Amino acid sequence: MRANARRWREHAGVPVWAVVKADGYGWGAARVARAVLGEVAGYFVADADEARELRRELGAAAPIALLAASGPGETVTLLAEGFTPNVASLDSLAAAGAWARERGSPARIRVGIVPAAGWSGLLAPAVEPFAQAAAGEPVEVQLWTHLTAPEMWERQRASFASAQETFARTGVRISGTDVAGTLVSAREGRSGHSLVRIGIGLFGARFGGPRLQCAIRIDAPVTDVLPAGAVASAGYRGAEPIDAPWLAVVRCGYSDGLPLRLAGTNKIVSIGMQYTVVARSAPESAGYALRLLDTTSDVDEVLENTGISPHEFVVGLGR
Ligand SMILES: *Cc1c(COP(=O)(O)O)cnc(C)c1O
Repeated sequence: MRANARRWREHAGVPVWAVVKADGYGWGAARVARAVLGEVAGYFVADADEARELRRELGAAAPIALLAASGPGETVTLLAEGFTPNVASLDSLAAAGAWARERGSPARIRVGIVPAAGWSGLLAPAVEPFAQAAAGEPVEVQLWTHLTAPEMWERQRASFASAQETFARTGVRISGTDVAGTLVSAREGRSGHSLVRIGIGLFGARFGGPRLQCAIRIDAPVTDVLPAGAVASAGYRGAEPIDAPWLAVVRCGYSDGLPLRLAGTNKIVSIGMQYTVVARSAPESAGYALRLLDTTSDVDEVLENTGISPHEFVVGLGR
């Protein structure tokens, strides 16, 4: 994960902020955060609960920003606790401004624009009134958006640029901009923005981008070895053509988070609840730890043609 964080920084040419929401994609937010400490400039979490939990683990020095928007009361609490809140309403903006005025120095806030389903930001008609209000408040704004489907990027980028122009014209202090998660960063390379928000890319998903190491290793103990020609069937999916002399049965299945849709790829013949059948050229003995995934695996290739998103894969294996 450390090496991957470094690769993203080189690829984008700007600081990487690690996205450790959903308890670090199921692998422990603090554990992931510690793994990339020193390689990233800060951490994104979803909400206040996640922010406080990570703070307890990491201490006050680690910069933590929120992806979800907060109401006025929570915004002030988050600022007082040293977090960077995400502000999406005039009420919360006014609360942040009042807090900053009392304190005598500007409040650092994030403002998301051009929302997509699943996260909060300013809708287009709200941009101008929000910018005018922000210009009168002692706030420093990190403007951000989250590009979604590639077909929409051009339109989303145009809306973002227009909002940025509105904020600049009204006199808001813009301290930075960011638009990219892993997929966008992979495609665009050098970022013209202030930072990139990398979550899944720390685990090794690269979407055709820089060379990375898969951060997850799966060693599954072999429980049985069978000559491929001798078994009635290698699973529950009927007659599978098996082009290997041996089948290894390993103790790892979909109850462990190995997605069923991997069956038929990567020499995996079938996947059951607790056991998986793997095509082998040689008969390992029972107890041998068969390595299904490690640092030499390419996450893009492993999931190719499976319809499994790397996020779903990584979060599932977090179990
Ligand atoms: C989850 C999330 C990210 C990280 O996305 P990855 O594809 O895991 O890099 C970035 N930005 C926002 C707003 C997110 O919700």
